Amino acid sequence: MAAAGLLEARVGVALADHPVLREADGRPVKFYDGREFQNWGRTVRHTPALTFVPRSRHGVREIVRWSIRNNKRVRACGYRHTWPDLYSAEDQVLISMLRPADVETLPVTHPPLDPDSDLQGIELVGTVEEDGTTKALCRFGAATSNEQFRQWCLDEQRGDWEWTLPLNVIMVEITLGGSNAPICHGAGLRNRTLSDLVHEIEFVNPRGRFQRVSDPRQLKAAAGCFGLLGIVTAVTLKLDPMTFATLQPTKPRLGLAIPPPDGFPVPAGVDMTGIADADLAAARERFFAQCEHEYYAEWFWFPFQSEAWVNCWRNDGARADAQPYPAEHEVAAQEAASYFIETSQTSVFADMTDREQAEFFGSSAQAAVPSDVTIVTPLIEALHFRRGIHNFRVLDMEFEIPIPPRADDPSKPDWSICQQAWWDVIRNVYERPDAPMRVALEMRVMGASSMWMAPQRGNRFGTCSIEVLTNARTPAADWRRFKQDIADLWLSYTDHRGRPLNTRPHWAKEWEGVRYRGQTAVGYLRDEAYAEQIPRFRAGLRAVAHDGGYSVSDLRRFSNPLLDRLLRDVFA
Ligand SMILES: Cc1cc2nc3c(=O)[nH]c(=O)nc-3n(C[C@H](O)[C@H](O)[C@H](O)COP(=O)(O)OP(=O)(O)OC[C@H]3O[C@@H](n4cnc5c(N)ncnc54)[C@H](O)[C@@H]3O)c2cc1C
Repeated sequence: MAAAGLLEARVGVALADHPVLREADGRPVKFYDGREFQNWGRTVRHTPALTFVPRSRHGVREIVRWSIRNNKRVRACGYRHTWPDLYSAEDQVLISMLRPADVETLPVTHPPLDPDSDLQGIELVGTVEEDGTTKALCRFGAATSNEQFRQWCLDEQRGDWEWTLPLNVIMVEITLGGSNAPICHGAGLRNRTLSDLVHEIEFVNPRGRFQRVSDPRQLKAAAGCFGLLGIVTAVTLKLDPMTFATLQPTKPRLGLAIPPPDGFPVPAGVDMTGIADADLAAARERFFAQCEHEYYAEWFWFPFQSEAWVNCWRNDGARADAQPYPAEHEVAAQEAASYFIETSQTSVFADMTDREQAEFFGSSAQAAVPSDVTIVTPLIEALHFRRGIHNFRVLDMEFEIPIPPRADDPSKPDWSICQQAWWDVIRNVYERPDAPMRVALEMRVMGASSMWMAPQRGNRFGTCSIEVLTNARTPAADWRRFKQDIADLWLSYTDHRGRPLNTRPHWAKEWEGVRYRGQTAVGYLRDEAYAEQIPRFRAGLRAVAHDGGYSVSDLRRFSNPLLDRLLRDVFA
């Protein structure tokens, strides 16, 4: 990588063999020459030929046109929070939708909406009736962050507590363009994915022209297409009227938060003393009810803790009782704590054994989350209940397991699959000598998705969305072995007739390098898990391409080596 000073000196400089591309106001588009790219999780690293940092839709279009003329591929990035290699590639073009300094530097800062950039912005553009509710149509510049929208929702001069997204990623340091591309989600059985909320998507297509898609059939492909249709400049999402969540987090004993499945060999490390069958039965009923009825359903186990953290809540609070949450000083404390953990990894953590690290993080995290309180807060706050996440780099593998039908009544969901997936991890963690899961086991229950490429598609009873997280100090080989062991367990589940469930990983989390039922990731996803969906995805892209006057093979412009292999049949 070139020295930072040199890079800074080159910003915006019109070198003889480099482009002078213009923003909408005539100023040159900033660019970096040969600047190394790394994602936030440090799992992807390469050096694009040029990294552009546009501040206008016009500038994005100029970059795409320049890439076409110079036969370069071009892809974008937001906060770079995606773990797999879904970014640009060596010697190609990268469009950084945010200023590199704002995303590469820890601790996080939260720049306000840039009034001079039409790639950022939040504008109500209409309403639509859906499910008996009037929803607002909200156009977001693709570089707008969750944090900017959260602030907008609560600002009396702007959103004024009127509208909210019904679901979102927990972390606020995420762009709307970035979270739509790999089909991100929140929690709750009635909630689908962010891409399911897209009413219209605008991008610069392979002809170097702006194109908008709002046909619901085309959106099933276009709203969650990994950036393949082009560089997204805006998304219009459907917002719900603001409602108020009633958070009542609890810290039950691990054995009672999600009780083990019947007959499960609970590891000796989990204290089950004094827990009677009747307690387990009551806990199971409560857990099933949480899965089915709570607006938001999420469970955490921080490593080696005797209690879980249950973050399930209703969305039935009164506006009069609602307060912003977390309060400003709590946000500052959470951000500082995460940053402290991040920076301690080379000092405090360095002298600890693997297990001590896991226990240290586990107990700190468990102490930091609230319980036995009732917090009424605007929905948008409840969705982003934890801050400072960006300040602590982690690794993360997440799978979406379809909830199967019950054997005794196939018209009903069999929630025991969630118990199994949860306890298989806990048992594995206790039984192994290393401690590769040092941050958390997290499970959410959510709905299905209509997006062709969503891992939740077809899950008619809902989805068990479950993930394991660790810190950057975990030895790579330990983490790799653990991911494989857990993937083997999660992929082993069948329905009551013995048919394997169509379990698929979250596109934005770590799925490369894991073997799936004996196959490579690409082989499994392309030829098995998405075998039926890819042709439909292709048909959707083809319809969009037809409207834009190009063909699907032109979409290679916006692909990269991993997507080439995964979506080989799309480009054919
Ligand atoms: C700590 C952590 C917690 C997370 N929690 C959740 C969670 O709760 N739920 C969930 O579903 N996901 C979660 N994620 C995953 C995260 O939501 C995704 O990685 C998301 O894509 C990140 O957004 P970003 O702005 O960083 O985009 P990036 O990671 O920078 O980009 C994501 C993808 O979108 C493409 N892209 C970005 N912008 C554009 C554009 N304008 N046009 C075309 N393509 C574009 C990129 O090429 C890339 O393929 C989490 C990630 C982290 C690191």
